[in-house]
Amino acid sequence: MTKSPQPQPGIMDIALYVSGESTVAGKSDVLKLSSNENPYGFSDSVRDAFVRTVGELHRYPTTDHGPLRRAIGEMHDVDPDRVICGVGSDEVLQFITTAYAGVGDEIITTEHGFSMYPILAKQAGAVPVTVAEKDRVVDVDAILAAVTDKTRIVFIANPANPTGTMVENGELIRLIENLPSDVLFVHDGAYTEYVDEFDGGKSLVDQYPNVIMTRTFSKIYGLGGLRIGWGYASRDIIDVLNRLRQPFNLSQTQMAAAEAAVRDRAFVEKCRTENAKWRDWMTNALRQMGIGCDDSYANFVLARFADADEAAAMDAALKADGIIVRRVAGYGIAEGLRITVGDESACRRVIHTIATQKGVR
Ligand code: PMP
Repeated sequence: MTKSPQPQPGIMDIALYVSGESTVAGKSDVLKLSSNENPYGFSDSVRDAFVRTVGELHRYPTTDHGPLRRAIGEMHDVDPDRVICGVGSDEVLQFITTAYAGVGDEIITTEHGFSMYPILAKQAGAVPVTVAEKDRVVDVDAILAAVTDKTRIVFIANPANPTGTMVENGELIRLIENLPSDVLFVHDGAYTEYVDEFDGGKSLVDQYPNVIMTRTFSKIYGLGGLRIGWGYASRDIIDVLNRLRQPFNLSQTQMAAAEAAVRDRAFVEKCRTENAKWRDWMTNALRQMGIGCDDSYANFVLARFADADEAAAMDAALKADGIIVRRVAGYGIAEGLRITVGDESACRRVIHTIATQKGVR
């Protein structure tokens, strides 16, 4: 028998991330509502910035992301020296797990938490510890009860994916104040901009040295295809994370596009307003059909059907009409379908199919 190269122990236990589908066999007019993408695209200024950098493709990008960090600092009222940028917020989350957890350590996530958290925990050799939620909302007492002397990191997304729910700020403060001070609390604010008057966890970072906030350009800024995210924390934490960052992790094009995007407040405002309008419309329409739907604070809603069979039948009916939504059985909600809030025509189209399948129309 010849020997073959073997991966490190634990690597084959890591589940591959499954992304939202984007095609339906035999369908051309496909409506993709499975990845929480922005139906309004991105700011016009992004296109200009993108084109401007094309002539510079032979040059290495700047390593310190200075102009982008300063733009983020200005627009989000944060200290640019305490910002780190990554290839999507996924990369920032990976810096965090790699830096702060190792073999045998524990990383706490919640029952319906974002699926990358356990993947990243395992990549670091750590053990993901999943705690129960209360009615699909993060339960601070359950998290505190799960803390051991091996706990290194606690992850929550707020608003959460795939539930769309939020935890009250007072509860977050109670959580942080009761965590051991050497446990890092990650407040994942991927959907922050969809929430009115919300700082995404900035004030928590400013108040507590063991908190980091992560953010993304993939959602309201409409740049999922470009892969840019950022984190905000104490100088010490940012210094640690930067030691793991490849010097040229972001291209000049990514940085210029993100800078243009973050400066266009009007575009963000328009997307927030339209999203809220059609999210509420869709939530009401689902509830009127007797389908369970919590208030969502993000750019998607989680429709809960009677059981897994009904969710599967609905998913198939939607696909037959060329509409792709997200099954969330993998997130422990077998009866759920997560539906991105599209523009008006998208929302009307998805509700029409659901109503027809339900026999309501
Ligand atoms: N956090 C949460 C809660 C998310 O839903 C996502 C995107 N699905 C991410 C982080 C990662 O986003 P990105 O890497 O595109 O910035």
